Amino acid sequence: MKILVLNCGSSSAKFAVIDPESGEEFISGIAQRLGSPQASLDWKFGGKKETKELPGADHDQALREVVALLHETKLADGLRGVGHRVLHAGTKFSGSRLATPDVIAKTEECIPLGPLHNPPNLLGIKIAEQLFPGLKNVAVFDTAFHQTMPPRAYRYAVPAEWHDKFMVRRYGFHGTSHRFVAGQTIKQFGLDPNNSAVITVHLGNGCSCAAVQNGKCVDTTMGLTPLEGVVMGTRCGSVDPALVGYMSKNLGKSAEEIVDFMNKKCGLLGLSGLSNDMRTLVEAKDKGHEGARLAIEVFCYVLAKHIAGLAVPLGRVDVMAFTGGIGENSWPIRAQLMGHLAFLGLSLDEAANRANGKDTGGRISRETKPQAVIVPTNEELMIARDTAEIVGAS
Ligand code: ADP
Repeated sequence: MKILVLNCGSSSAKFAVIDPESGEEFISGIAQRLGSPQASLDWKFGGKKETKELPGADHDQALREVVALLHETKLADGLRGVGHRVLHAGTKFSGSRLATPDVIAKTEECIPLGPLHNPPNLLGIKIAEQLFPGLKNVAVFDTAFHQTMPPRAYRYAVPAEWHDKFMVRRYGFHGTSHRFVAGQTIKQFGLDPNNSAVITVHLGNGCSCAAVQNGKCVDTTMGLTPLEGVVMGTRCGSVDPALVGYMSKNLGKSAEEIVDFMNKKCGLLGLSGLSNDMRTLVEAKDKGHEGARLAIEVFCYVLAKHIAGLAVPLGRVDVMAFTGGIGENSWPIRAQLMGHLAFLGLSLDEAANRANGKDTGGRISRETKPQAVIVPTNEELMIARDTAEIVGAS
């Protein structure tokens, strides 16, 4: 079986054709800088990387190119469905859904919660409906996995009116990744699916953690938006909310402008004054760059405090699972982080950590509890699996 997975952002469209059972990826690529003269399509097929310039192309034109590519590579005929990554479902969906008119309307109602992402996500569904008239579309929501959180985890200490009228609460994001990694961790490390306590730690450009009890999310670090929680590449994570008004006054900028700055110019980038990229920062720190040293120190310390906090809803921690570009690859960051978490009983296996768990089946701690492991995320495969299941059942 083959599923087309689409992830349409504001100026990009990622795609992949995946076998949901074996996980084999037949083709993958990204159309970038859409709407600009530099728009292009990059893809990988049969071990070869290729690029095509698409000056001025929009989402529609780019996806038409993708369809042509799928015909050229003979992948179009075997497709069974299209799975779409969709950011925000508010409280409307706790799982993936066939993109019926009703589901699309409800996702549109969530645009105020995800103003930058939901519109291009929905546009992707609309274009796919036109380009693949025989195929069903499935929406896989980033927020869905976190819908099992109890009120004590998702309510902020603000009046009920804010919650009821303006949908103010913690939603959480990266849900597809946390669900995939938690499920994989339970399987791979022989945990009891009905009696397990896992903390999933997704460290990419965006970073978030989730407390997963018996396979269900009970708390997470991101909030109403992906700005809350741990320090990220360009996002500051949790700060005193009064900071917005304070800096708005100091800089003569609107609240929206300050929040935009906190999303795009803070985090590792703001702290280091150098880069949002962890690889660059680790190298710079080794050469004595003070900003890089401070950024890494704050990143690890804040992350450790959040991870320790997620032990509260779980009552214990069986496994801490690292994923994402930093989580899977950056041994110095994991080492520094785990130094802060030794009090939980966590004991790092230094050699295994340096090897990114390659020779130990992903394990990077000693056999004591809690264990620390690396589980590469695969959001595209999770989307393909959900799509296959829903298309098969419909
Ligand atoms: P995204 O959230 O955009 O999917 P990724 O999961 O690819 O991002 O993570 C990007 C981050 O991972 C960057 O900070 C990058 O420096 C870091 N990273 C990727 N590979 C390595 C590596 N080998 N060592 C250290 N950091 C890495």
